[in-house]
Amino acid sequence: MAKIWGDKRYNSLNYYLRQKFKDKVFKISLDAGFSCPNRDGTLSRGGCIFCSERGSGDFTGKSRNLVKQFYEVKEMMNKKWKSGKYIAYFQAYTNTYAPVDVLREKYYSILSLEDVVGIAIATRPDCLQDDVLNLLSEINQKTYLWVELGLQTINEKTAEVINRGYGLETYIKAVNELKKRGIEVVTHVIFGLIGENKKDMINTVEFVANTKTQGIKIHLLHLMKGTRLVDYYNRGELRFLSFDEYVDLVTDSINILPEDMVIHRLTGDSPRELLIGPMWSLKKWEVLNEIDRRLKEKDIWQGKGYAENYEISKLFI
Ligand code: SF4
Repeated sequence: MAKIWGDKRYNSLNYYLRQKFKDKVFKISLDAGFSCPNRDGTLSRGGCIFCSERGSGDFTGKSRNLVKQFYEVKEMMNKKWKSGKYIAYFQAYTNTYAPVDVLREKYYSILSLEDVVGIAIATRPDCLQDDVLNLLSEINQKTYLWVELGLQTINEKTAEVINRGYGLETYIKAVNELKKRGIEVVTHVIFGLIGENKKDMINTVEFVANTKTQGIKIHLLHLMKGTRLVDYYNRGELRFLSFDEYVDLVTDSINILPEDMVIHRLTGDSPRELLIGPMWSLKKWEVLNEIDRRLKEKDIWQGKGYAENYEISKLFI
């Protein structure tokens, strides 16, 4: 018998949050005005080659005042759904890249708002110094917290091509530091990076599957206007994954993830006016429906094909 979470063959964030909070929970994407060491010249000026001008925060509110920005996005959501609880998602740029007092002020200004039940912080593994980790640990005692790490791939060659700016051992260390403090970790991976084949992408998923962390976000590589990736595309060095290939990759990934790992995302999102390709990715519901259909067809579900890889899992506490 297939294992089912609600109406899915995988443990989606939606399902997980509803079980945990007994209510609909919305994520409010925020741009807290941080920068990124990979963009401000500390590591590089170019940033990751796929990163958009808004630091991967294309769906955040516009107001510079963080609390106002929160309400701006919340109001938009309330047009569709009248009530619920909220997780403040510090999404744009690197959300632990500032003096710890600044971070404290920003995080707490949002935490005190009504119906905010948690906070999600997206960052780079090389931006988690001890004082930041201690602040995160403190916040973790007060509310529901998870930290998102942009890994994208475990392939060091690809990491160089995309100008990620840190090595795999930095990710491993960051995961262990967060785990030591009982903080939940969600890892981002991207399918369709330059030069990667199916085996590379599945290897990355297998690695994440063995971290014994709480979540994963799977993105499709989007080519967006204004990114450095456009040069690669114009030189013919970037091939888009097809709809079919992507669904195949995602369903095979779901199969090998442990069943308690929460799947935060199975598609990417990018604003229509910025997207150059693949254009099929705009049909998000078609992608998700096809994933459901294909899981049934292959008769697989999350965890069915999971097997611990001791070489990988011994790297993590
Ligand atoms: S780490 Fe994030 S914000 Fe910084 S360049 Fe890469 S994708 Fe953009």
